[in-house]
Amino acid sequence: MSKTENNLMEKIVSLCKRRGFVYPGSEIYGGLRGTWDYGPLGSELKFNIKQEWWKTVVKDREDVVGVSASIIMNPKVWEASGHTASFTDPLVECKICHQRFRADQEDVIKEHEKEHSKRKEKVAWTEAKKFNLLVEVKLGVVEGEKNTTYLRGEITPGVHVNFKNILNSSHLKIPFGVAQIGKAFRNEITPGNFTYRSIEFEQMELQYYVRPDKKESMKQYDYWKELRMDWYKNLGIKKSNLRFREHAKDELAHYAQAAWDIEYNTPFGWKECEGIHHRGDWDLSRHQKYSGEDMSYFDAETKEKFIPWVIETSGGVDRAMLFFLIDAYHEEDERVVLKLHPKLAPYKAAVFPLLANKPKLVEKARKIYQELKKDFEIAWDDRGNIGKRYFSQDEIGTPFCITVDFETLEDNAVTVRNRDTTKQERVKIDDLIRYFSDKLS
Ligand code: ATP
Repeated sequence: MSKTENNLMEKIVSLCKRRGFVYPGSEIYGGLRGTWDYGPLGSELKFNIKQEWWKTVVKDREDVVGVSASIIMNPKVWEASGHTASFTDPLVECKICHQRFRADQEDVIKEHEKEHSKRKEKVAWTEAKKFNLLVEVKLGVVEGEKNTTYLRGEITPGVHVNFKNILNSSHLKIPFGVAQIGKAFRNEITPGNFTYRSIEFEQMELQYYVRPDKKESMKQYDYWKELRMDWYKNLGIKKSNLRFREHAKDELAHYAQAAWDIEYNTPFGWKECEGIHHRGDWDLSRHQKYSGEDMSYFDAETKEKFIPWVIETSGGVDRAMLFFLIDAYHEEDERVVLKLHPKLAPYKAAVFPLLANKPKLVEKARKIYQELKKDFEIAWDDRGNIGKRYFSQDEIGTPFCITVDFETLEDNAVTVRNRDTTKQERVKIDDLIRYFSDKLS
């Protein structure tokens, strides 16, 4: 990572803490490596990302429904899904300082070797060992008789184990999808790059069930691959910062018929944002085998019975948020501006009285604030001068600022200032809701 790139991440981490997007987890107790807490603005941004995902993948469609499954599941689920046997990363230990790293993360390994070489030491590594990433939990009230299970390492199985329940309680016809957003946990060997690799994170996933037909399933696969890429672009990520990467043969799971990642050009290299996988019938047939339940689908029209194939899109909410922030971060003249898409911005507008010590201005501005707040997320600020208030809102990505001045008391219009162009225009108070509905839609 070059110095400028390093600086960019430092600036983003610092802005996130200072303005209430993301704080280090358990900070007052010295923190806990790889955990992060989302502050007032971070919670809003994350919520907006999830809402946009849900809208595109579930709400706007007729063929996708949602579920919200348990984080803690019967441990047999993880045997069936293959996680207890093979949800592993290769772990190596530095023989000098005994720190452990993922052997396949070359940048982290090189960075560590560089640190030692500054002290004229040459690192020797232990042989790579397989390390299981599942986080264990002990359930039960009697010590010594507690059962071991896991915090889910991915949210996928919660959908597949409910395949029959969903079929029996809905009128879905193949092809159809089941979507879920939720937390997953991994004992990551080297968490890092801010929230990019955490031990607790959120995933947004779709399992799309299709007929076991090579041509038909690949058509669906290509469709979802493009749709997921377009989602990031439509929410403002620069096209040049996104790319597809096909999994190499040795990365591909044995059951996978196709696997591509959507990658983002971060200051620490091109990194995975989301995976789109053609999983064949692996998930349902494994759960059929391990649970003894029939996981097939019966097509009433063709009278065919089969185990569907699955096209999965699996993205990280925290990673998406980090990439949206990196992409939106701009330094211009004297200001820092987060050019977040208005749909993602924590606040859609901020309302200011020109002077905080003029009760008539404050009263008028409060009224506008209360009225707009019914429809949009709106900030209020009456501190310092207007210039400072603009910069403060630019830094958190608020697309519009509304100022109530002395003229407002005469003409019932306000000054609306655009975050990206910094241009100002007068808008009638009565037209404000329509104005924002147009701009934000
Ligand atoms: P990586 O190769 O980076 O470890 P992965 O291929 O193991 O990721 P998946 O199991 O495919 O990731 O998980 C799907 C998505 O979940 C990823 O694309 C990513 O956005 C998110 N994700 C996975 N692990 C983490 C993590 N430790 N912290 C934050 N997000 C994660």
